[in-house]
Amino acid sequence: MTDRQALIIGITGGIGSGKTAATDAFAALGITVVDADLVAREVVKPGQPALAAIAANFGQQILLPDGNLDRKALRETIFREPAAKQWLEDLLHPLIRQEILSRLQHSNSPYTLLSSPLLLETDQQTLCQRVLVIDAPESLQLARTMARDNSTVETTRAIMASQLDRQQRLARADDVIVNDGDLLALHDAVEKMHQTYLDLSKRTAPYE
Ligand code: ATP
Repeated sequence: MTDRQALIIGITGGIGSGKTAATDAFAALGITVVDADLVAREVVKPGQPALAAIAANFGQQILLPDGNLDRKALRETIFREPAAKQWLEDLLHPLIRQEILSRLQHSNSPYTLLSSPLLLETDQQTLCQRVLVIDAPESLQLARTMARDNSTVETTRAIMASQLDRQQRLARADDVIVNDGDLLALHDAVEKMHQTYLDLSKRTAPYE
């Protein structure tokens, strides 16, 4: 790392908007992507202190026979008990934030992406100088998610309803990529945004 202030771009979007397709394209251009979802899963892997704390709090039945976290059992427990949900969030959020910070600090690409479906719903956005929203019409979000996950309209709509709506998300964006064309169009849009961020990254040096 240098003493240059690192440029961190938060990237978010609703389910099926194309965040992963977009971050894959940025990664192919050599940009480090820190994935908040991945970090959230890694902090509760077997051997991690957080998993031991969860098992001590909820009992061994919260673990699968292979030692992994039984996510379904945990979801059901916190659905029944709001206090348990709070306890879990108090345990995991600082760990997730710390791990995200460490990965951002170790990045040495010209700028770094923090990808998170909950960027705008959590304090993760405070780690970023700019927010890039991947935007798609809701009909496309639905169609793409259902094709990818083999899920029903009802399940997909329920997830969409639990997220920020499109207008709220767009209102908080510094930059937007509208992903309503084919993948080639998305890659073109990513390359243009990449150039903008490269230019910006040269200007974020504190003493230039
Ligand atoms: P989630 O929040 O559920 O993780 P996401 O925002 O990461 O979703 P992706 O997984 O990138 O969304 O995209 C959803 C599906 O739509 C994937 O199968 C992806 O390959 C496909 N897809 C994304 N963008 C396009 C596009 N422009 N043209 C065709 N297919 C696309």
